[in-house]
This record gives sequence, structure tokens and C-alpha cells, in this order.
Amino acid sequence: MGIQDTPRLPFYQETGRECALFETAHAKGLPLLLKGPTGCGKTRFVEHMAARLGKTLHTVACHDDLSAADLIGRYLLKGGETIWVDGPLTRAVREGGICYLDEVVEARKDVTVVLHPLTDTRRTLVIDRTGEELVAPREFMLVASYNPGYQNVLKRLKPSTRQRFLSIGFDFPQPEAEIAIVARESGLEAGRVAPLVRLGGAIRRLSGMDLEEGVSTRLLIYAATLMASGMGVMQAIEAAIIEPMTDEADVQRALRDVVATIY
Ligand code: ADP
Repeated sequence: MGIQDTPRLPFYQETGRECALFETAHAKGLPLLLKGPTGCGKTRFVEHMAARLGKTLHTVACHDDLSAADLIGRYLLKGGETIWVDGPLTRAVREGGICYLDEVVEARKDVTVVLHPLTDTRRTLVIDRTGEELVAPREFMLVASYNPGYQNVLKRLKPSTRQRFLSIGFDFPQPEAEIAIVARESGLEAGRVAPLVRLGGAIRRLSGMDLEEGVSTRLLIYAATLMASGMGVMQAIEAAIIEPMTDEADVQRALRDVVATIY
């Protein structure tokens, strides 16, 4: 475990041996899939690794309307002229950069068709509109993330797609690491962060409740940030944890009961 931090290197607290795996995947030109709940550090990990390897990062937040053209590029009308504009995936391939597709399962089905030839030995990006077939340079790397917790039958990564990627399972950090992360990101002293992280653990252990997911590290950082700026603990927890987590009054009451066991 190590804390990496220089002005140009985004802070990332390693929780296993994921940094070495990323480096090897990059060196060998293998695509990587990061699985895990929202707000547990996947994006920060990719930002950190791209900076560490000195690579340009092209991040795409996928949504249900995102199509292959959004990734590859399209013809645009500029000053009466039609010009081709590369999308983020094409730019990353041309440059030999890193392309990060955040929440890839959200994207439309035609995106998968583009990813397949790029993630096997062909390493090819086919641009139908221009007739180009780009072979990705060695340094190009494709990273994607998805959240198994959100999956439903319609939005599942097919085995034919997932088996093209190396995968790392992410989860919320262990308490000691999470305290270090939250303190570092919020500026709140570790002694005051510790009960918040305990609260996070208690909420994550709640089962049978109407919660889609446990509280994210991101929300704990928000709560700590409010507290560091002088806000009272209860108000901070309401605004950063209880309200963002659920709209159901009875679930909110249950969460407040958990808070009362710690504060
Ligand atoms: P995800 O991409 O998994 O949804 P993020 O990478 O955006 O989550 O993480 C949310 C926030 O939590 C980050 O902005 C960062 O402040 C913090 N964070 C979570 N895990 C770590 C970690 N291991 N090291 C440093 N910061 C982290």
C-alpha cells in the first residue's frame, strides 16, 4: 500500500495490488474492466494511473443515449464545410492514449460492436463513415468500469464482452484506508473522520433495507468536508448521507437510528 502524490499525480490510496496490474495491462496492451459500486475510487484510480504513466486520459461518462458515433466521431458542418471530427475513442487510439468508458453497460448496444475488434488481437477501430481502419498502437489502452449492483437483465455486460477484459473487483476500502482517504480529501482530522467511517461501515452492513447501495466513500468525503468547514455533525450527515441515499421517510428514520448508535 502506498500513497502517491505529486502536483501532477492525483492522490490515490492503493487498496491491493491494482497499480501493478494496471501497469502490466498497459505494457501488454490488454484492456481492463473495473467492477464495483459507485464512488469507491475507480475513476480516481484511472486518473492516477494515467498520470503515473504519462498518458493522456480520454474519459467518457456513458449513458443510455451514448452511441458508437459519440465515441468514434462524426461529420460536422463548420462554416458551410463538412468536416470529420474524431470522438474521444478515436483520439485515444490515434494518440496511443488511455480511453476510460465509465459505466460502460449504460451505453447503447452498438458501442459493443465497436469495442470487440478493439479488445481482441485485431486491436482495430473501424470507422465506417470514413472507411478508415485504425490499428491501435501498443501504448493505447481501453479501460471500462461497471457497477454490478445496478445490473438488471437488460443491462448486463454479456460474457462475450466481459471475457475480453482483465478485471479488477473494487469495493469500499478497509476502515484504516478509508479514514486516510476521507481525511486527506476533506481536510478533516482523522480523529473526527473515524466515527464517520464507522457510520459508513454500519450503513453498508444494513441488509433488507430499501437501499440500492451502501454509502459511497464520496458521500463520506462530502460529510467530512462540511464538518471541516464548521458545519454541525448532524446537519452534515443529513445533507451528505441521509438525503442523498434515500427518498423514503422510513428508510431515512432507520438511517438516523444507525447514526444515533455512533454519535
Ligand atoms: P467511482 O469512479 O468508483 O464512482 P471515484 O473514483 O469518483 O469513484 O471516487 C469518489 C471519490 O472518492 C474520489 O473523488 C476520491 O475523492 C475518493 N476516493 C475513493 N477511493 C479512493 C482511493 N482509493 N484513493 C483516493 N481517493 C479515493
